[in-house]
Amino acid sequence: MKQNEYICPKCGGFLKVNAKIIFIALKDDEKKGIILLNPELGDYKRIAHNTLELKDGERLTFLCPICHSDLSANEINRNLARIIMIDENGTEFKILFSEVQGEKCTYRICKKEIETFGEDSSTYVNYFGSGPQ
Ligand SMILES: [Zn+2]
Repeated sequence: MKQNEYICPKCGGFLKVNAKIIFIALKDDEKKGIILLNPELGDYKRIAHNTLELKDGERLTFLCPICHSDLSANEINRNLARIIMIDENGTEFKILFSEVQGEKCTYRICKKEIETFGEDSSTYVNYFGSGPQ
């Protein structure tokens, strides 16, 4: 079984614990809660406490649960969050994924190569026109 690690780009903390990637989700109405993502790229199941009342199409801000940095990749698009993935061979990738609830898109970037996942992945692909940062 593959064991990819997911890391906060700001503090280097490990975000994956017991097969879930852990974030703090901040809503536009300032409500905050823990949100769990599946580490399998292309799996968009999100787990959050029902008091967070996530609605499709709602934009969330993902924060690192360790250093509380805003993980939004604002220089590419404010709807995308960025983290680091290290695969089982030690190769480092940038992972960008949509912070919008219900939007299915993920980008895995290594040097100039971009691999896309999810049925909504065409939504932001134009923002990578000048090459990944
Ligand atoms: Zn962090």
